[in-house]
Amino acid sequence: MSLDVAAVRADFPVLARRARGGHPLVYLDSGATAQKPLAVLDAERDFYLRHNAAAHRGAHLLSEEATDAYEGARARVAAFIGADPGEIVFTRNATEAANLIAYSVGNAATSGPSGGRPAGPAAERLAVGPGDEILVTELEHHANLVPWQQLCLRAGARLRWFPVTAEGRVDLSGIGALVTERTKVVAVTGQSNVTGAMPPVAAIAAAAHAAGALAVVDGAQLVPHHSVSVRETGADLLFFSSHKMLGPTGIGVLWGRREVLEALPPFITGGSVIEVVRMEGSTFLPPPQRFEAGVPAAAQAVGLAAACDYLDAVGLDAIAEHERALTERALEALTAIPGVRVLGPLTTERRGGAVSFTVDGVHPHDVGQVLDELGIAVRTGHHCAWPLHRALGVQASTRASFYLYNTAEEVDALADGIRTAQKFFGAG
Ligand code: PLP
Repeated sequence: MSLDVAAVRADFPVLARRARGGHPLVYLDSGATAQKPLAVLDAERDFYLRHNAAAHRGAHLLSEEATDAYEGARARVAAFIGADPGEIVFTRNATEAANLIAYSVGNAATSGPSGGRPAGPAAERLAVGPGDEILVTELEHHANLVPWQQLCLRAGARLRWFPVTAEGRVDLSGIGALVTERTKVVAVTGQSNVTGAMPPVAAIAAAAHAAGALAVVDGAQLVPHHSVSVRETGADLLFFSSHKMLGPTGIGVLWGRREVLEALPPFITGGSVIEVVRMEGSTFLPPPQRFEAGVPAAAQAVGLAAACDYLDAVGLDAIAEHERALTERALEALTAIPGVRVLGPLTTERRGGAVSFTVDGVHPHDVGQVLDELGIAVRTGHHCAWPLHRALGVQASTRASFYLYNTAEEVDALADGIRTAQKFFGAG
């Protein structure tokens, strides 16, 4: 089934606005955050207009409706990724989910899942301590790297990583030596936000499990663009952000296998997560409530559920194929421009729609500025993946990233814009 881009675009009012210089807006920055369809805006507004109250607090009608809406959203998100509602934890975003995992795993040995000490055997198995190793990849977004670095500092553990190939993929040739009995966590991206590379997460998770390690997948760039069934990824824990998949900002998702979530202690504590509180100490509710302190972001959850509806109605497979075609066109157009180096794989095999590139003789920020003058929105810099840029031998790059509402003409406008930048700066 192919995708009707004109019909999709009509659902995104912002795409009709003018950009700098009166140019039509060409939004090629969905890897940073996606635009929102009317259905998502309407769902969030409707919640505030008719049902707003603190979910899971209060005994009145509105609170009950807000709770139903919030829990309904949890069930909708669970269905979207083939999970059970009880395995879905709402976080603030993907970054907070990664921190939740790193902190909870780090505390698992000292703080039992229900608040008591000592931790049970399941928690002790997950705990990270001195001499243990955490394995990541050089491809990671800082969100799936820095929390693990910090955990290693706190726990006296060692961070190791799969290197990256010249093509911008994970180099798995050393997997036998890197995954050992010391490995406690293997955390890997499902799709690079820079090179678009899609590591074989199921194979990596299988290797992690064979060593008794936990498999964590950063799904921030994967879940918005592909049909994902969490069980097929082989992961124990997988996280992503609503705002990159047409939903509101301020809400993210952590999915975890039930027995893993049950063994982990809470991360942020306070109201909503507790079973019993005494001055001497507290005990905690089972997951997912154990991990959702404070009044929940119910309106955002409702918006995210509407985003799931929208994506499913268009069809994730149709979206993936549409992005694949745009990416193929972009790779062809950009590699044909002398002086342009694409940082990721040059074919669309196991590759998503983030196309990062450098232009000889023109700084990425200058490329971005010229494109902006032409109405084309891209990202410039290291895209929160500084080690990856270093490994690829560049300081920074310009990134175009595609989604369901982008068109072939917009890809051509990007290529024309790059040529304009080259002319302007006397390069190429
Ligand atoms: N992981 C990847 C691969 C990303 O691209 C991003 C955001 O760009 C994140 C994690 C962090 O997402 P957020 O900023 O929504 O927490």
